[in-house]
Amino acid sequence: MLKKIDRKNRFVSMFDPKTGFYARSGVIDENGKGTGVDPFMTSYPELIDVGVMGHCVHGASGLCLKSGVQCYQNGLKTHHPNMSLENFKRIVDECKGKTFQLALGGRGDVDQHENFAEILQYCRENNIVPNFTSSGLGFTDEIVSLCKEYCGAVAISWYRQPHTLRAIQMLLDAGIKTNIHYVLGQNSIDEAIERLSNHDFPNGINAVIFLLHKPVGLGSEENVLHAGDPKVQKFFDTIDHMDAPFKVGFDSCSIPAILNYTHNIDPNSIDTCEGGRWSMYITSDMKALPCSFDNQDLRWAYDISNDTIQNAWNSSQFEDFRNHFRTSCPGCKKRSACMGGCPIRPQIVICSSTEKTV
Ligand code: SF4
Ligand code: SF4
Repeated sequence: MLKKIDRKNRFVSMFDPKTGFYARSGVIDENGKGTGVDPFMTSYPELIDVGVMGHCVHGASGLCLKSGVQCYQNGLKTHHPNMSLENFKRIVDECKGKTFQLALGGRGDVDQHENFAEILQYCRENNIVPNFTSSGLGFTDEIVSLCKEYCGAVAISWYRQPHTLRAIQMLLDAGIKTNIHYVLGQNSIDEAIERLSNHDFPNGINAVIFLLHKPVGLGSEENVLHAGDPKVQKFFDTIDHMDAPFKVGFDSCSIPAILNYTHNIDPNSIDTCEGGRWSMYITSDMKALPCSFDNQDLRWAYDISNDTIQNAWNSSQFEDFRNHFRTSCPGCKKRSACMGGCPIRPQIVICSSTEKTV
C-alpha cells in the first residue's frame, strides 16, 4: 500500500497498486482530529494523464468516426511526434513517490508507441501504476502479455467493431482487469440504455465506464446531452436501479447529472471534476494542463519542456482553473459535491438548477 501525507492540505491518502483501491482522509485539524471536510486539492497531482501519443496510427482510416466516436484529440487531422522516452522518464522521475498512477493516452493507441514496453516497465520500476485505454485494433499477444505484467487495468473504447470484442476477449483470457470505456452522447445513449437493461456487455468485464461526450476536437455540439432530455432521465433511472454482473462507473464530468438524476448512489463513492485539484494532463510536447480536454484550446497550458510539474501545479494558470470550483454556484445545496462541474465546456454540465452560475 502506498501512503501519502499531505501536510500543506492536511490529509492522508493511500493507494493499493495491486487492487486499485484508493482512500483519502478528510481534512485533519491542528489537534490531529478529523474535521469531516473533504480536502480541496493535493499539493502534487496523484494521477497524471500522460499524452504519450502525438498522432494516431489509425487516424487516416477514420476508425473513430466510423465507430460513432468523435475523437476529442482531433487525431484525424493532427500529426505530432510521440512523446520521447527521455521526456517520459523525466516525468516519472519527478513523480516518483508522489503520484500513484499514470493514465497513458494522447492522440492514438498507446500500445502503438515505439517505446510502449519501456514506458510500462519504467513506471513499475518506480512504483507508479500505468493504465491506458485503447481501441484494441493493433492488439497482439505481445501487447497483452505486457499489459498482464505491468498494468493495473486496461480499458477498451466501445467502438462496436469486431476488433473491439476481440481485444476485450484477449485481455479477459489473460486474466487482466478489463473495463469498457463508453462515450455517452446523443448518438449512443439509446444503445446504452438497451445494453444496460439487457446486461449486454461481454461476460467477465470488470466495469463499463461512461464518459460524457464533450464538444472538443471532432466532438460536435449536436451530440451533447442536456438536462431535461427524457433520454437522460431514462438513462440515469436505469443506472439507479441497476443489478448487473459488472460494475458501472462514470468520469467525473458526469457528477452534476449523477447528483441531479439519481437517488441510490452512495455520495461517498463520487468525486467531482478532479482537474487541477487531484489530476493533470501532459501533452506529447510537454505542456501541462489541468485536464486533457483543454488540449485544443490550451487556455490553461504551462510549458514544462524546461520546467517542473510542481511549478505547473503551483502556476497562476492552474490557480485560475481552480478558482472556478471555488466560486461557482454559491447558492446551491449540492455545491460541495459538484463545484459547478466543467470549467472547459460548461454546456456539458447536466443541471437545470436556478442556482447554476456556470
Ligand atoms: S475539466 Fe471538464 S472535461 Fe475535464 S475532467 Fe473536469 S469536467 Fe471533465
Ligand atoms: S447548481 Fe451548480 S453546483 Fe449545483 S448541481 Fe448544478 S452545476 Fe452543480
